[in-house]
Amino acid sequence: MQVEVDLNLCQGYGVCAQIAPEVFELDDDGYAVVPAGTPVPEGRDAEVREAAVACPAIAVLITEDH
Ligand code: SF4
Repeated sequence: MQVEVDLNLCQGYGVCAQIAPEVFELDDDGYAVVPAGTPVPEGRDAEVREAAVACPAIAVLITEDH
């Protein structure tokens, strides 16, 4: 599973980083810095899915492995 944050959508709420701090790093302005193709660490899938649902800006994009 891979994840990215669309910087055009991210509003800097930081909800994602509260739910999954190991995956979502915030920059100094509070925007999540997760480039396209970032692999989700083992065992963090559920947190990342939760963050995607919780993000008020719908900026967390998940790509499933096939
Ligand atoms: S929760 Fe959404 S809007 Fe907030 S920092 Fe994370 S990606 Fe950005």
